[in-house]
Amino acid sequence: MSNEQKHDEMSKYELKRLINELEDIRGRNTELVSLYIPAGYDMSKISDFVTSEASEAENIKSKHTRKNVQAALDKIGRKVKEEQVTPENGVAFFSGNVSDTEGRPDIKVWEVVPPQPIESRHYRCDKEFVLEPLKNMVVDDRVYGLIVLDKSEAAIGYLQGSNVKTAYTLDSNVPGKTRAGGQSAQRFARLRKQMLKTFLTDISDKSQQAFLPKAREGKLLGIVIGGPGFVKDKLVEDDYLHQELQDKVIANESIGHSGEGALKELVQKAEESIEDSQAVKEKKLVNEFFDHLKSEDGKSEYGVQQVKKALDMGAVETLLISEDVEMYEAIYNCPQGHEETVYEREAEIEDSRECSECSEEMDLEQMSHIVDAFGEKAEEMSSELEIISTEHEEGQRLMNMSGVAAILRYRIR
Ligand SMILES: [Zn+2]
Repeated sequence: MSNEQKHDEMSKYELKRLINELEDIRGRNTELVSLYIPAGYDMSKISDFVTSEASEAENIKSKHTRKNVQAALDKIGRKVKEEQVTPENGVAFFSGNVSDTEGRPDIKVWEVVPPQPIESRHYRCDKEFVLEPLKNMVVDDRVYGLIVLDKSEAAIGYLQGSNVKTAYTLDSNVPGKTRAGGQSAQRFARLRKQMLKTFLTDISDKSQQAFLPKAREGKLLGIVIGGPGFVKDKLVEDDYLHQELQDKVIANESIGHSGEGALKELVQKAEESIEDSQAVKEKKLVNEFFDHLKSEDGKSEYGVQQVKKALDMGAVETLLISEDVEMYEAIYNCPQGHEETVYEREAEIEDSRECSECSEEMDLEQMSHIVDAFGEKAEEMSSELEIISTEHEEGQRLMNMSGVAAILRYRIR
């Protein structure tokens, strides 16, 4: 390779795994170093900064801590020196002692080029790594739709991760029960009814604007409705919602308030339904896979090679990958133009191998986690990809079947 710098941005999946790894590391003392650098920073100044922090660390009283912090900074300092310019999204470094045995340090360093830009410079030495900026990059872009309403007001919003965002707020003109003098009771009741109808239609329109595009992208996980009184039930029971959205309703909850402030109250109330809905979906898919497998109708495949074959043919309806699968796809090329793909754990992947066709040496061209490799192919083939948790029994069953499985559109053998 030339001296041009190699900066492979991490994919979201890779970053997620790294966050999990770093999150589990705890320092005995404040000895874990995190350093975030946005794009455009002068790396030689960062290098000076790291050097000065290392000399600052002389003042740390505990000998072990002092040594560990200095060693961590030293490792980061060397990495910084290798960089001439910051990568397009900036770069983050993490370093510290990962050894469990006191007095026998094992100083590790990680360099991360994230999939999204780092917003601000950040340095900290603590008992744990600072991971918030990275975590914000891997927030799932799938949402739950929220509708809170009573007869006087409504709010439409999203739940994304643990954040609640408001999309629309609406006020109704539905008058209270006391009518103005001179109006006939019947006429008044009719008017109220009409106004409520208009209000519910407005809510439906706004819900459609907010949720339908998400639903069609496959990013609407469900809709939760709530509010005090009967109006919320009317919205559901009288079919005000667009049919595609109606099918997505997972809960209808009674809560004390309406309006924007009640969106959070609704999320709390519906927490179980929300958690269940994802698990229910996963379990259903895994069971569907096992049903096909049992009935031998040819609409199931499992194991990385078989699934890859089906995926390449475009035969996969839904790709199921267990969150615990730790397998990588490695692509090798030889000078004669032969290509071979190998699936292994990361540690097993060699830089080169012998070509099975011409015996020349093959170089490792590309390596990616199976979720990334298969996820990309799935997108190309319009196959659904579902990452399956191992926290339920079905997820465990899938993991026991290699953790990689597919429900097929049609049989292929
Ligand atoms: Zn060859």
